Amino acid sequence: MSPDPRLTGISTIVGAGNVLWRDADKAPSLTDWRGRYTGEALAVVRPASTDEVSRVMAEAARQGLNIVPQGGNTGMCAAATPLAAAQPCIVLKLDRMNRIRWVSPLGDCMAVDAGCILHQVQQAASEANRLFPLSLGAEGSCQIGGNIATNAGGTAALRYGTMRDLVLGLEVVLADGRVLDLMTALRKNSTGYDMRHMFIGSEGTLGVVTGAVLKLFPQPRDRRTAFASAATMAGVLGLLALARETCGDSLGAFEVLNREQIAVIAAHRPELRQPFPDAPWCVLVEVADMSVDGSLGARLEALLAEALERGLMEDATLAVSEAHAKAFWAIRHAVSESSRAAGYVVSHDSVVPLFQQERFVQEAEAAIRAVSPEARVAIHGHIGDGNLHVLAILPQDAGAEVHQRKAAEVSAAVDAVTARLGGAISAEHGIGHAHVARLAAAVPKERIALMAGMKHMLDPEGRMNPGKIFRAG
Ligand SMILES: Cc1cc2nc3c(=O)[nH]c(=O)nc-3n(C[C@H](O)[C@H](O)[C@H](O)COP(=O)(O)OP(=O)(O)OC[C@H]3O[C@@H](n4cnc5c(N)ncnc54)[C@H](O)[C@@H]3O)c2cc1C
Repeated sequence: MSPDPRLTGISTIVGAGNVLWRDADKAPSLTDWRGRYTGEALAVVRPASTDEVSRVMAEAARQGLNIVPQGGNTGMCAAATPLAAAQPCIVLKLDRMNRIRWVSPLGDCMAVDAGCILHQVQQAASEANRLFPLSLGAEGSCQIGGNIATNAGGTAALRYGTMRDLVLGLEVVLADGRVLDLMTALRKNSTGYDMRHMFIGSEGTLGVVTGAVLKLFPQPRDRRTAFASAATMAGVLGLLALARETCGDSLGAFEVLNREQIAVIAAHRPELRQPFPDAPWCVLVEVADMSVDGSLGARLEALLAEALERGLMEDATLAVSEAHAKAFWAIRHAVSESSRAAGYVVSHDSVVPLFQQERFVQEAEAAIRAVSPEARVAIHGHIGDGNLHVLAILPQDAGAEVHQRKAAEVSAAVDAVTARLGGAISAEHGIGHAHVARLAAAVPKERIALMAGMKHMLDPEGRMNPGKIFRAG
């Protein structure tokens, strides 16, 4: 076996050792995180700089090769998997581009290579006594470029927004190798169209993000965490409204899990202590601010006491140490792994306005039960910002054909509820390959046509991640 001859020029640019063309070396990049889709690529190419990315893109254009950008490969919808529509292709993996370029505590910003792991960026910010707030279960392996390309949300979006709100500047290499330098640290800029927003959430279909200027924030000096239980979604939402009124901007996270989701986690991770294993709803609340006098803890306690008195929740436990708070978060962060182990997960990333959330939960669960009575309905998510993940967990042994048919029926039913309540089918995970048909059904044709037009302008040959978000061609 020898590498495909179309890779010769690319090998000269990045070095032969950074063109992984043998099956065993490529394999980890060919299958998505859920293990559902496996594709093919001539090679996984690992450039070390923006200049190398630019030259690789130009050479790939000459050879007629498509490009599938890949970060940490932790995405939920096979957006980084090189599937049939992308052939012939290379996977462009930015893991060697992992430099923190600079940090400015005065400017509250930092510039990074797109291949930096999210956790590495959080650490670098912390060393400068600043906070980079994006936080999610995959933060030890996902990359900033992937976070930008998916417009990631995570557990701090309630307070700090999604990735779109955290990016000041971008560096992007286009399909033909041109470098688009938008690496500004400016907070205000009215000089025409703001191009960065086209690339944020574009899932590798418009260009390769190679660098970014990110917003930083002051490090909170106090942080308090509580785990509460509630009998109803109305109670959960009442607690959220009260938390907003009493804690204002210090409300940092407000996450919810239903009883089935807690049971799924308990089965997979029995070592995690569950404060309320039988509660219909569990809520993880975190507040953080600059106070150093203990007043934050007192405010959280007062909030919980009032919520208890008003009958919004049933019980609550406050973390007494950082380790205790981490144990609460370990439950929340165990969701994805545990659900994957529980069966075939038909997952939804719906967002509806908060005032529709109670109806959404009831109607989505009823809709799933109507088409798939055997499904376990596990619900978790960032309820504070309206984003719930409703999972229908089907028996693993039902077989691929049943899984696919049921998944389509279940998602159509949930999406109908989402649409009726004025929501969107993806809040943070994106569309990728897995949800192309669902997107086409959920949004007006005119919008898809406009998106396709934008893609054609930036990528006229359709070589950037073909088949993702909408059908290739
Ligand atoms: C345990 C777990 C928990 C998670 N929790 C959350 C959560 O709370 N919130 C959330 O939003 N997501 C969550 N995710 C999903 C996932 O981590 C995010 O979507 C993340 O942003 C993907 O980053 P990545 O580097 O792994 O990207 P990949 O999976 O490698 O790629 C995702 C998309 O980005 C594109 N891409 C990657 N790098 C680049 C680049 N440099 N330039 C252009 N395009 C690029 C790819 O082509 C693909 O379209 C979770 C995943 C796991 C496994």
